[in-house]
Amino acid sequence: MPETPEELYARAKDALRMPPTEEWETFPFEGELRPRPLLPPVERERPRLGEGGVDCRRCAAPDDDYLWTNEHWRLWHLEKPTGLPLIVILESREHYAEPGDLPDELAAEIGVLLCRVEREIRALGNIGRVHVCRWGDGGEHLHWWLLARPSRVPQLLGSFAAIWDDILPPVPEKLWRADLARLATALRA
Ligand SMILES: [Zn+2]
Repeated sequence: MPETPEELYARAKDALRMPPTEEWETFPFEGELRPRPLLPPVERERPRLGEGGVDCRRCAAPDDDYLWTNEHWRLWHLEKPTGLPLIVILESREHYAEPGDLPDELAAEIGVLLCRVEREIRALGNIGRVHVCRWGDGGEHLHWWLLARPSRVPQLLGSFAAIWDDILPPVPEKLWRADLARLATALRA
């Protein structure tokens, strides 16, 4: 069994390491950096938004708010363009908390669907990679992020793409809306 949070804290708080970020081409920041002090564990985890389906904004959202929907899944996008060419979020129609909570039929569907959405985003052009991510520490309603990064910009590779998204200036809105529309059309086909 992994160590308890208290054991982790006791072992790690005075032993934090600074990784060689200056050697990482994809690291978005420069200058002198140091790790933040590690804070002690909390009594319990903070409740997530919409926990247990109570006041869940994703459950309450009408289909009109979404880019594409079917019987079991809905795909939405952020309100405004961000630094990466396209970010969409695929979520279950019903309220589930964790991937492992899905019944097998839905688990099989989401596998096929994530691959399909990834393929269609890549087909938009000038996309180097589509990162398919599931974190789930903010809102509880089960959702996957699909983050498209531009092609041929080596600094934007890998997991820091999620940070670069806040650093790069937003994509022109007209272009962004056109790509969303193309994606929706492809998924309806
Ligand atoms: Zn929900």
